[in-house]
Amino acid sequence: MDERRAEPDHNTGVNNSVSLYGEFTVTGNRKVRCAVSLTERELVVQRLTSTPVGRNKAVLSLKDCVGCRAYREDDNADPAANLSAYFYPLKRRWMSSGVSRQRVEQSFRLAALQDPRANLEEAEKWARVVRERSARQQYPRDGVLMSQLSRPCRMMLLVNPQSGKGQALTLYNNHIQRMLNEAGVPHTLVITEHQNHARELVREADLSQWDALVIMSGDGLLFEVINGLLEREDWEDAIRTPLGILPGGSGNALAASIHHYSRSSPVSSEELLLSCGFLLCKGLVSRMDLVSVQLSSGPRLFSFLSLAWGFVADVDIESEKYRHVGAARFTVGTLVRLASLRVYRGRLAYLPAPDQETLRNEVTLHCNNQTLRSRDSVGQNTFHNSCHSNNSLKARRTESTPSRSPRKAPCGPTDSLLPPLDQQLPGDWVLVQEEDFVLMLAMYHSHLAEDLLAAPGAAPDDGVIHLFYVRAGISRAALLKLFLAMEKGEHLGTNCQHLVYVKVRALRLEPFSPKGIITLDGEVVEYGPLQAEVHRGLARLITG
Ligand code: ADP
Ligand code: MG
Repeated sequence: MDERRAEPDHNTGVNNSVSLYGEFTVTGNRKVRCAVSLTERELVVQRLTSTPVGRNKAVLSLKDCVGCRAYREDDNADPAANLSAYFYPLKRRWMSSGVSRQRVEQSFRLAALQDPRANLEEAEKWARVVRERSARQQYPRDGVLMSQLSRPCRMMLLVNPQSGKGQALTLYNNHIQRMLNEAGVPHTLVITEHQNHARELVREADLSQWDALVIMSGDGLLFEVINGLLEREDWEDAIRTPLGILPGGSGNALAASIHHYSRSSPVSSEELLLSCGFLLCKGLVSRMDLVSVQLSSGPRLFSFLSLAWGFVADVDIESEKYRHVGAARFTVGTLVRLASLRVYRGRLAYLPAPDQETLRNEVTLHCNNQTLRSRDSVGQNTFHNSCHSNNSLKARRTESTPSRSPRKAPCGPTDSLLPPLDQQLPGDWVLVQEEDFVLMLAMYHSHLAEDLLAAPGAAPDDGVIHLFYVRAGISRAALLKLFLAMEKGEHLGTNCQHLVYVKVRALRLEPFSPKGIITLDGEVVEYGPLQAEVHRGLARLITG
């Protein structure tokens, strides 16, 4: 190994020094000799044995490296050591304009010396420097980055064998097991046996044994894990356990969101899995908002992704029967439900998020003047009374702590914005005037499904519920157009008069019809009145 002088990087002008250099043969083919150099940012492999043009040199970015290891074959007669580095660079897909991650392994045989231990030490030195440098090379992110998972990271990987097309275990065996081994992540595989198995498990687990809890399923299994963590006495520490997700289900919205946050072009299925696996190996941890949801009976639930009522909730649940088609189940379900499009009656109110200052002032003005206009109307009964006359002054800026005592739940953070569900809302809430809806969808991540970019502006810890509702009266064609535009996150630009988007901190929904479907993170919950409040950055999410 040579220690070489610094050379300027011609592309960036940054000092990208060649500091390790060696000449090795390729593992498995001693006829192929390579000159290998390692800079601060790249591994450069130059074949010294001639090969067809264009394939003589490989430049691999350490950003794309998940791991590197040194080892010796069992063959004692051979003094050589091996060095393997594993990369998942973005490559152009065959017959398509998109890019996705594809595995590239570089393995070399180091046999410069007669002493097997000396060769192994040399290989280990390379492996260590490759790992250190790739850990330093992270993709730039917005300011949500918190920390990096420690190495070695003890990971519990929960797999739901029933999720999606029932392929999660196969996907684990085909891709993830190898990738985690390459990244040097020892993990314990837990195969769930029934619904709520994961929830019970994390509720009782000794969390000091785990650095991360990762689920491989759809969003439903993470919903179990998060609620299990928040049911613990030590919920405050427990919910800070880094959580990861690998898409193995049919509803892989969080996985698609994490991929989206990494600023990569959209992918699906196994390409999404490779991307999320790669980001998981990178092990960067961000904060994640959770939304606490109070239902009229039963304990509070915590949601990390979405709250839906109307069209979206119906499609999610009705499409369970098309589970065998994987993520396409939502497309099929959407078309079926469009054919029997209906109106959902109920009342919706929300507390605008702080950056909607203008809206808030407008509400206050309306309250004071007792005027009725558009969606910030005065409530018509005791359920909401958005701007009731006796609190019209208070309504001016009820940013302060609410006067009512918040419902104290046994575990999890206190909901400071929500009065009891059967009491009227304070004056700074906005009551939606319409009572006829086609859908209500509250999102806290960017994606509703692998191919539905519902809230393009959402970030994992923005402290905001992205509330969408579609008013009744929309035509089937216009609704279909909205969902088609949503594939690219362009629905807000369609100027659909029936679609309303508002950023909120809390909301209350009271459906009128006695029966119906409400979903949290794609899971059916008790149908009836509910209210929800966002808790900023409560959980930790491995976003890579
Ligand atoms: P999908 O995206 O395919 O719906 P989910 O992860 O959402 O996958 O899981 C679907 C449901 O299966 C969830 O309600 C989850 O709680 C439940 N579940 C988890 N493990 C099992 C199991 N071993 N058998 C049956 N259901 C399970
Ligand atoms: Mg699901």
